Amino acid sequence: MAKASPRKPKPLFDRVCFIGIGLIGSSLARAMRRAGLAGSYVACDRNPKHVKAAVKLGITDEATRDYAKAVTGADLIVIATPVGTNGEIARLIAPHLKKGAIVTDVGSVKRMVIDSVARHIPKDVHFVPAHPIAGTEHSGPEAGFPELFENRWCILTPPKRTSAKAVGKVAELWRRIGAKVETMDPDHHDKVLAITSHLPHLIAYTIVGTATDLSGDLKQEVIKYSASGFRDFTRIAASDPIMWRDVFLNNRDAVLEILQRFTEDLTAMQRAIRKGDGPMLEDHFTRTRAIRRSIIGAKQA
Ligand code: NAP
Repeated sequence: MAKASPRKPKPLFDRVCFIGIGLIGSSLARAMRRAGLAGSYVACDRNPKHVKAAVKLGITDEATRDYAKAVTGADLIVIATPVGTNGEIARLIAPHLKKGAIVTDVGSVKRMVIDSVARHIPKDVHFVPAHPIAGTEHSGPEAGFPELFENRWCILTPPKRTSAKAVGKVAELWRRIGAKVETMDPDHHDKVLAITSHLPHLIAYTIVGTATDLSGDLKQEVIKYSASGFRDFTRIAASDPIMWRDVFLNNRDAVLEILQRFTEDLTAMQRAIRKGDGPMLEDHFTRTRAIRRSIIGAKQA
């Protein structure tokens, strides 16, 4: 007797609109499509090349530069553009949103996104802010891939009175594409990300900038003999300049606070090197090695 094929779960949405079809927007569209999470998909991007690519690469069924056309009839709208644009996008799409629709985002900063977006969202539309902790240094629709969020965290930071049903639906979306979901207060999110993501990017941008400013032979040799330490920093420092400009401008307080602590710790290291304090250096490096091992243990390496 022929075996019954396992029943595919019902799609969660009828029509999904992605505003910004770059690395994150296109990865999410690809993952949702693969998991059969919606009936149809539309992309909206300001970049005409990305609008063309979205359809040509089969990422979405339709693509346009027109916000109103894109969001009309959509029951899920994902804002996936640099965080500095999110407030203005929310203002422009607000009059065209369908009653009961869910607006979500993927921004790396949450407090500012909530403050700038929530005020434009009509009362009969739900806003569920989200941040998938996954990415690469590449940008644009060609850079996306459906596995990007597998086994990665997605943090939801819904404002207090957000409908539990809408939050549940967004959480379900991320789980069905392989992510692990956690809910967090937006200010806490911004502090955690300042240390785990924003500061490391700032350090990478600074180190690579310092090397770039070296003159003549020394600069050539930095590139030629680039050992893994420097090479890893160059990968991070190749991340999208606009996205990261917006992250630092919009998570200013948390980044400045953590940068102050980092500067003090760096000064302590500088003192240990100057004084020849080997035990201090060794003790410090031993503790940091343990952190790396626990990240590997948590399968986040
Ligand atoms: P991306 O690859 O550069 O994609 C952004 C897309 O949005 C581009 O096609 C861009 O066009 C378009 N765009 C910019 N402004 C727009 C506007 N006002 N209206 C419509 N489209 C617009 O960037 P991404 O890496 O996907 O980042 C998108 C969001 O994801 C950001 O909020 C970022 O904080 C968040 N995020 C990123 C990562 C990561 O590692 N990259 C990880 C997690 C979350 P142009 O190319 O012409 O600018």
